[in-house]
Amino acid sequence: MSQENCIFCKIIAGESKSETVYEDDVCVAFKDLHPQAPTHILVVPREHIESLDKAKNKHLETLGYLHLVAAEIARENEFAEAGYRTVINTNGNGGQTVFHLHVHLLGGRPFVFPPG
Ligand code: AMP
Ligand code: ZN
Repeated sequence: MSQENCIFCKIIAGESKSETVYEDDVCVAFKDLHPQAPTHILVVPREHIESLDKAKNKHLETLGYLHLVAAEIARENEFAEAGYRTVINTNGNGGQTVFHLHVHLLGGRPFVFPPG
């Protein structure tokens, strides 16, 4: 998917609505439209990286940072100690539907492993 047609790029640019919970120079975090848990937030880099499969060494810091932001949001929402799930879906078999890399942060209920 090209950057021009990317729903997450549109959200980041303020051209499409979202319920933003956090933003900085590197990423934006907003509520998932179809939550799979009491809290379901997407942590999305401002840079359009299609998927983890397309990430390069230059994205090393960004990839780590997205996870630290997710951890901070979990603490702020007071479900860090109880536990939570972070997920990156990649390509078809991984269940990726939006081709702009993102970390799902799911909290507020127990999760089983392995996921479906
Ligand atoms: P994935 O399937 O891992 O690519 O995740 C994409 C996620 O984006 C899904 O959980 C969708 O519910 C969510 N999503 C799609 N469009 C929007 C939107 N406009 N605002 C918020 N979340 C969205
Ligand atoms: Zn994008």
